[in-house]
Amino acid sequence: RPLVSLRGVSKTYQAKKGTPVQALTDISLDIAEGEVVTLVGPSGCGKSTLLRLLGGLHMPTEGEMLLAGQRHTGPSHRIGIVYQQPLLLPWKNVIENVLVPIRVRRAKLAPYRERARELLTVLGLDSFAQSYPHQLSGGMQQRVGIARALIQDPEILLMDEPFGALDAMTRDALTVELLRIHEEFRTTIAFVTHSIAESVLLADRVVVMTPRPGRVAQVLPVDLPRP
Ligand code: ADP
Ligand code: ADP
Repeated sequence: RPLVSLRGVSKTYQAKKGTPVQALTDISLDIAEGEVVTLVGPSGCGKSTLLRLLGGLHMPTEGEMLLAGQRHTGPSHRIGIVYQQPLLLPWKNVIENVLVPIRVRRAKLAPYRERARELLTVLGLDSFAQSYPHQLSGGMQQRVGIARALIQDPEILLMDEPFGALDAMTRDALTVELLRIHEEFRTTIAFVTHSIAESVLLADRVVVMTPRPGRVAQVLPVDLPRP
């Protein structure tokens, strides 16, 4: 059954001055539990906006969003987000960075430490738990960002060009790694990318968007053997 359903969703940004910007137009889309969906399309077509709606960070101006069958009214569900930049806190070591979302929630840290270690192991970072971000390569920093996004066991993992700032080899390695993580945790993933190759490698379905105002042009099922 779908984890998220969008029904006729549009989003217009109200500018303080000037004309409003219609970023999304009449989007209807279901994302199934455990599915990996990639969002592709030209710059400005509304991919980031769609991702924010899926995370409940913005509300649609028209249409309806259902989360697990319930009307969706805000950022109440557990989400994990990974942006192009890892945005790690430079004065905290790796494991403390992974635990930041727990601190933000003011929850007890102790029960999450083991989970943090497990995630670092899955991401090949177990020997770097005590290192600081500046001691890590860009690819490793982004792995820490992924571990941080997974620490709360999110219902949906939202990724906005997460590997866009990395060199091609690191990018490929992390794409394969993400597939492995998905095999292991079965987290629902919505992934924005410019790369068709990345898209086809990762996705169960590719959502192709038109230039602004963004509509869904096509949803392509992908059925390829994976590495
Ligand atoms: P993409 O991620 O595909 O590049 P975005 O979702 O970032 O597209 O943007 C879609 C359109 O909405 C663009 O025209 C962008 O300038 C506009 N937009 C995005 N965020 C805002 C905002 N907070 N306020 C006003 N306009 C915005
Ligand atoms: P990217 O394409 O890398 O995702 P965006 O173009 O979406 O970056 O913009 C990054 C930030 O700027 C977002 O928070 C977005 O809401 C904001 N933004 C984008 N376009 C506009 C705009 N036209 N007016 C105001 N804010 C905007």
